[in-house]
Amino acid sequence: MEKDTIRKVKRVKKRIKIHKKAVAMTAISLILIAVIIAVCFIFFVPNIKLLGDKVITLKLDDTYKDSGIVATYRGKDVTDEVKIEDNIEYGKVGTYKITYSIKKGIFETVKKRTIKIIDDIKPEIILEGEEEVTICPGKEFEEIGYKATDNYDGDITKKVEVKESDDKITYTVEDSSGNKATVTRKIVRNDKEGPKITLKGDETIYIKKGETFKDPGYTAMDNCDGDVSKNIEVEGEVDTSQIGTQIITYKVKDKKGNETKTTREIYVTSPNGQGGMIYLTFDDGPSNVTGPILDVLKKRGVKATFFVINQSDNLNYLIKRAYDEGHTIGLHSYSHQYNLVYKSTNAYFDDLNAISEKVEKITGEKSKIIRFPGGGSNTISKKYSQGIMTVLTNEVLSRGYHYFDWNVDCNDAGGAKTKEQVYSNVVNNLRHNQANVVLMHDFQNNYKTLEALDDIISYGLAKGYTFAAIDMSTPLVRHRVNN
Ligand code: ZN
Repeated sequence: MEKDTIRKVKRVKKRIKIHKKAVAMTAISLILIAVIIAVCFIFFVPNIKLLGDKVITLKLDDTYKDSGIVATYRGKDVTDEVKIEDNIEYGKVGTYKITYSIKKGIFETVKKRTIKIIDDIKPEIILEGEEEVTICPGKEFEEIGYKATDNYDGDITKKVEVKESDDKITYTVEDSSGNKATVTRKIVRNDKEGPKITLKGDETIYIKKGETFKDPGYTAMDNCDGDVSKNIEVEGEVDTSQIGTQIITYKVKDKKGNETKTTREIYVTSPNGQGGMIYLTFDDGPSNVTGPILDVLKKRGVKATFFVINQSDNLNYLIKRAYDEGHTIGLHSYSHQYNLVYKSTNAYFDDLNAISEKVEKITGEKSKIIRFPGGGSNTISKKYSQGIMTVLTNEVLSRGYHYFDWNVDCNDAGGAKTKEQVYSNVVNNLRHNQANVVLMHDFQNNYKTLEALDDIISYGLAKGYTFAAIDMSTPLVRHRVNN
């Protein structure tokens, strides 16, 4: 019994001993494994060290330059062997990664760097219309328009918030990155604008002496007050017993006291040209002054005559316009070169037919009203053909043409260098007892005549003349033939 117990105790002791040994063995193994792993790390796992910041923020326009890495393996520099990859999309807002990796044997090391691309540029709001707007007192502001664009989002007009207060409108917009822009439009409630007066009928009215003048009427609209026609005051009485110019003045004020004025000119003329006729004639066009001359004639309601030559076809529309506006298109010459035109009778008519056909093509009408280059009295034709003017002046009449020279020369192709000279050359030579055919030119850049024209018309009307275009019933004004 005792022997058994002792044996058992011995066996247990032995087992404990074996167990202790095992525990010690395990601990040693673990330490060994740890040491091996550590050795592996040092000797077999590559190492990457990032230089610079781990997180880098870039603006949209920036390009990233890597601040570098250092990689080592078993104490050697293996930086060259590191694979670098990134998913950066330049110019696009976002968070990206740069991945640095190196693999040696079964061991791979990976390091990452974060790149943030941000947009920190504000959008831009552009207002249409003025930054300060004046509106009528008591009226509501009506939006004129605006546009918002962002460097990154593009057109973001739809995102604009508009806030209205008493004296300003505030426009605010935010882009997708949270950058905000604000502009304001100042609102001034005031009325500084006078009413607009509209005259019915023409601004210039021609009336024969002794006839009764009746005002064709007038209206006035104010930007704030609306129709203020009934407040118009008319100054000036028209006395049609006197030949000359008279002026009617129309005045009106709005509630704020802004006043507007306009005038109408009344020309009392002599009945049926009894005060004399003026036939303004323009030679050698069309050109760059023809349009403005037509504008003056139109404004003044005056008809004239254009003796045309063959200018660029680009100017044909001016011949058409003059014709359509009631002026007479006369034939001057196709070439306007004396040596060609006056070489022979046939040469003259070839030239005349050429310009005649051109005009007819443009206007649809055959013109029978002509003016000789240099006039019927010219002597230059002697150089090319002795006696040709004597033949031609008779021949054109027998062929059904009426030719016109002139008895008033504004001398714009000669000595007159200023608009004042052109003006006085005309007005000093007008006669009430004759058909005044006035020679003028609408050749290129002839501004002096253009600029004198309005005053010449005013003078003529004030003196009781009647302006008209030449037609087949106009008395022929002819020079003495000198060749
Ligand atoms: Zn000429």
